[in-house]
Amino acid sequence: MELTDLKVIMPLLERHGFHFSKSKGQNFLIAPWVPERIAAESGVGERTGVLEIGPGVGCLTAELAKRAGRVLALEIDGRLMPVLAETVGEFENVTVLNGDVMAADLPELVDRYFGGLSPAVCANLPYNITSPVLTKLIGSGLFGTVTVMIQREVARRVCAKPGTADYGAFGVFADFYCRAKLLFDVPPDCFQPRPKVTSSVIRLERRDALAANVDEKLFFRIVRAAFNQRRKTLVNALSSGLTLGKGEIAEAVAACGLPEAVRGETLGIPEFAALTEEIGRRLT
Ligand code: SAM
Repeated sequence: MELTDLKVIMPLLERHGFHFSKSKGQNFLIAPWVPERIAAESGVGERTGVLEIGPGVGCLTAELAKRAGRVLALEIDGRLMPVLAETVGEFENVTVLNGDVMAADLPELVDRYFGGLSPAVCANLPYNITSPVLTKLIGSGLFGTVTVMIQREVARRVCAKPGTADYGAFGVFADFYCRAKLLFDVPPDCFQPRPKVTSSVIRLERRDALAANVDEKLFFRIVRAAFNQRRKTLVNALSSGLTLGKGEIAEAVAACGLPEAVRGETLGIPEFAALTEEIGRRLT
């Protein structure tokens, strides 16, 4: 079955009484090259157990099933269950579950479905929950790779380098746990219904060792404080975001060899890690 062909999927969806829901971020792929390329560039193979979030009618699920050892597809919309039974029910290595990824117990799912395989994620994510889903997936530390299609604007923020306009707390978070790579763009006319913006596919590869050996809680408190008020100098931003006087913050910044007027947006992980050490010492 050609699962990106509107002449195939519209009658199928109508037969099951399905209507697109904007609040569930339902923009289905209608260009065959896209799911094929996402699955190919995700790098999943027979030794991979792949979690797909939001299979829709199953066009990416089918591409993943051809390559991966197992596919677990988690779909929030119960109306798509009978559709998916028709479209991907014949793949022996695919399990479709009706559920919400935000409520899912990921370690339990990985344990139950991917025994002996390397866990990965591959998905065309619902746009309305991109950041919380990515935070949950990356923070879980469970997946060797996470290949996802998201809005281009968010993709740029995830992959941004220090000193660029797109760089922010989310980019530091992603870089702390993974190496992020922007793979390719997908234009709005590849979807039904057509979204307003261009999408991008990114691949996040988990780091073997974290980017810095620090107190993670304090590290991210500092990162958030630095970017909360990005127009301020780092010293001013941190003195309103942390429970330490301006003098002590200025001392910590100087001890890291950073100029007094430095701004948070120019700092990479090594500088934020050095600051975490210096500030941590002054907080205790
Ligand atoms: N994979 C399909 C494709 O590429 O054509 C559909 C992708 S569509 C952008 C996002 C899918 O995620 C929809 O099927 C939607 O119902 C599902 N979804 C939305 N929120 C979800 C959630 N919290 N948990 C699991 N699936 C969700």
